[in-house]
Amino acid sequence: MTTILEALREIAAMPEAAIWAEGGKLQLRGIPRRLVPVLAKHKAEVLALLEEPKGAWVRCGDCVHFQPGEPLPAQSLGRCKLTSTGLPPAPVKGYRACFPMAPRQCNDYEIKERTP
Ligand code: SF4
Repeated sequence: MTTILEALREIAAMPEAAIWAEGGKLQLRGIPRRLVPVLAKHKAEVLALLEEPKGAWVRCGDCVHFQPGEPLPAQSLGRCKLTSTGLPPAPVKGYRACFPMAPRQCNDYEIKERTP
């Protein structure tokens, strides 16, 4: 019997295979049929892994995609340049608005180069 770890390792090595979460459901593409029951048995754990944003807590003010707001660039509501609304893209954990100092977990965060 294939364990979930073995299944995920095997899937990770398949360039055509993909697993993602959408609306709380597992979505599969190019997964061998024999691995589907293993994924189904561990659906909750796999969903938790997929829905958890990667990386540490960050701040928009340190990100290259952040556009500072007015009148106080270090405190005012800014915009995320990755979205048309200026709000943080999904899935993001933390504040729903782009305050430069607010902590969040964001997969699209890219740290700005700091000048000495
Ligand atoms: S929401 Fe994410 S990508 Fe957008 S500015 Fe903040 S950290 Fe950067």
